Amino acid sequence: MSYQHQYIDGTPIHFSLGKVVCVGRNYAEHAKELNNPVPSEPLLFIKPGSCTVPLAGGFAIPQDSGSVHYEAEIAVLIGKPLSRTPSEEEVLDAISGFAPALDLTLRDVQARLKEKAYPWEIAKSFDGAFVLAPFVPGDAIQDPRDIGIRLSINGETRQDGNSRDMLYPIVPLIQAICGHFSLQPGDVVSTGTPSGVGPLASGDQLQLELIGHSQFDSHVL
Ligand code: ZN
Repeated sequence: MSYQHQYIDGTPIHFSLGKVVCVGRNYAEHAKELNNPVPSEPLLFIKPGSCTVPLAGGFAIPQDSGSVHYEAEIAVLIGKPLSRTPSEEEVLDAISGFAPALDLTLRDVQARLKEKAYPWEIAKSFDGAFVLAPFVPGDAIQDPRDIGIRLSINGETRQDGNSRDMLYPIVPLIQAICGHFSLQPGDVVSTGTPSGVGPLASGDQLQLELIGHSQFDSHVL
C-alpha cells in the first residue's frame, strides 16, 4: 500500500515515501520491560516504506502470527539528503516534520528469531507494520529534546513518554544513523518506544498523540 506524506493541515509533501529507519531500546524503561540490555550504540533496523499504512480510518493486524505488539514512537520526516557526518544544524535543517506512529511488531515471531540470533525483518516489516499519522511541520516543534508521546487504548493510557528520556536523542540518533547509511528526502526515522508496549486486538480503540501538537483517534480493524 502506498502512503503519501501529509501534514496535519492537509498539505501534501512532494516526495514519495522512502525507508523507515528504526531504533530498538532507545528508552531504558522499555529495554528493561523486555529484559533486554541497554545497547552501547543505537540498535538500528529498517522497515521498507512499503509496510507503511495511514493511521486514519483504522488499520489491520496479522491474524495468524502470534501476538502483535504496538510500539508508539515519535516519527521524524527527513526532507533533505543527509549523509556521513552532518552537523547538528544540518540535521535540524533537514527535519521536515514530526508525527506519532506505531511500530508494529510480531512479538512471538521476534522472540523466536532473537533466540537464534536471526534478523528480525519478518517480525517488523510485514505489510501494515508501520502505522503513520500526518506530520506537523518540523518548525512547529522548537525543541526535539522535549516531545511527549502518548498512546491510549480503550480509554486507558498505555504509553506516556518524552523524548528527553531517549538514550540517543533525536539529533544525535540521526547523526549516528548517517554514519551507517545516508538518508533521503521522504525517509522517516522512528525514534524508539517508551515502556508500556503490549498486544493489540481487533476492535481496540486507540488515541495516539504528540502531546500538545497533534492527536488522532483510530482503531484496529
Ligand atoms: Zn520500535
